[in-house]
Amino acid sequence: MSVYSQLYEGKAKILYATDNPEVLLADFKDDATAFNAQKRGSIIDKGKINCTISSQLFQQLEIYGIKTHYIDSPNPHQMRVKAVKIVPIEVVIRNIAAGSLSVQTGLPVGTVLKQPLVEFYYKNDQLGDPLLTRDRLFLLELATPEQVDTIHNLALQVNEFLRGFWQQCGITLVDFKLEFGLDSQQQILLADEISPDTCRLWDTAEADPNLRVMDKDRFRRDLGNVENAYQEVLQRVLQAVESKT
Ligand code: 5GP
Repeated sequence: MSVYSQLYEGKAKILYATDNPEVLLADFKDDATAFNAQKRGSIIDKGKINCTISSQLFQQLEIYGIKTHYIDSPNPHQMRVKAVKIVPIEVVIRNIAAGSLSVQTGLPVGTVLKQPLVEFYYKNDQLGDPLLTRDRLFLLELATPEQVDTIHNLALQVNEFLRGFWQQCGITLVDFKLEFGLDSQQQILLADEISPDTCRLWDTAEADPNLRVMDKDRFRRDLGNVENAYQEVLQRVLQAVESKT
């Protein structure tokens, strides 16, 4: 496959065009950013780890019946994906209070939510990805009411699957961020990535609030052992996938 040109460079990935206009190549970077890129660094092998974890999770989600942009992974840090127009909404699903939910509502970190909370944020770095209301979302014409309903339902289904999957890994899925895209037929596909960069993952067997953290919060909060945590998540995902086959 010949690769043509770089289409876009984001904080965690570079997107390339390919010889097929319906197919893009996503190259996962080791660069790490937090707090809207105010904190920058890099995590050794993060690109390979996140690409491999995402590839495995997308394949599992496809088997579960969720349509994703995933095609295949020609090497550990690259993924071929269906070309989609990204809906500029970051969908956050929460099972346990943490992060901005705790900061903004006062709900103590670790509070188990009675039901999953689905939130929409405006995907706009200049504005700092603000929390959206439904009315603001429609005011900005970010998606139609039908698309929002579909995305909301898909987000809950993805959460249902991922909670169980991570549980098999001995990992508690606290919260995570999803992005969706529209293909050439206006079909909504799950896009972007699902990885320790985009999920809060706590080691279920560990009670200590710092030791249990297995995700990007180790980088955000300078908890140390970032690489070890990412590697451990990868190993557990690969084991869980293998045990299914
Ligand atoms: P919070 O709103 O608490 O900061 O984030 C909630 C969840 O969504 C966390 O798992 C976090 O990793 C993920 N998340 C939200 N926004 C972003 C983002 O812009 N980039 C990444 N990588 N993850 C995000």
